[in-house]
Amino acid sequence: MTPTDLKKYRDILEAKRDELQNAAPARTPAIEPGSKSGDWIDHSSQESDLHVRLALKQTDSKLLRAIEEAIHRMDQGTYGICTDCENEIPNVRLDAVPWTRVCVDCKEKQSKKQ
Ligand SMILES: [Zn+2]
Repeated sequence: MTPTDLKKYRDILEAKRDELQNAAPARTPAIEPGSKSGDWIDHSSQESDLHVRLALKQTDSKLLRAIEEAIHRMDQGTYGICTDCENEIPNVRLDAVPWTRVCVDCKEKQSKKQ
């Protein structure tokens, strides 16, 4: 990994991190004043909507954590190294998932185990 690559991924990660942090409060469910939704939306659909929102939030915080860990690995100089087999993670994978910890091989091994 060249310093130019590292800078590129750091920019991507920091931008994504800021995006997630700024997006969080905006997701709080808000009922518009004067909305008549309660009249025609039954309770079950409102509840499932809430579950979807909660699930999204959990995914976001997981992602945020993964991003923060990736930035931490950059500071330590271990970014782009698979934490499992310790090989370099190909740039093509980092382009797709810049906060990844493992290479594709190890990722596949992990998902087979589960
Ligand atoms: Zn690996």
